[in-house]
Amino acid sequence: MTDCIFCKIVAGEIPSNKVAESDHAIAFHDIAPEQPVHILVVPKSHFTDVGQLALDDFEEAGNLLKLAAQVAAEHTDGHYKLQFNTGSKAGQTVFHVHAHILSQYKKESVA
Ligand code: 5GP
Ligand code: ZN
Repeated sequence: MTDCIFCKIVAGEIPSNKVAESDHAIAFHDIAPEQPVHILVVPKSHFTDVGQLALDDFEEAGNLLKLAAQVAAEHTDGHYKLQFNTGSKAGQTVFHVHAHILSQYKKESVA
């Protein structure tokens, strides 16, 4: 999708602070973090939202969740939210599906 900011990040046309990548998805720090850990996980293919992703390509949905789980394990102490805002009235502003990994607790902060 030519006008999609996350497609451009996937293509490397817009820089991002990348933390991980698989064959199917990438993870990068949110540009405006709301919690100490705020990482976005994005499929490399364009889907509008999590509903379209799950209904159109269940395997890609699984691949997205797998990278999200790996990144969350690496960057948090295991206590985190995985959030998909879906639709503008629910706060979605970028219409390329992305999971927010949100956590107060970084892995380094584990007692
Ligand atoms: P949404 O509101 O659609 O669920 O989340 C979009 C998220 O993308 C927001 O948290 C916003 O800060 C983030 N974001 C928007 N543009 C960029 C960008 O160019 N780079 C990065 N790293 N994050 C972005
Ligand atoms: Zn896109």
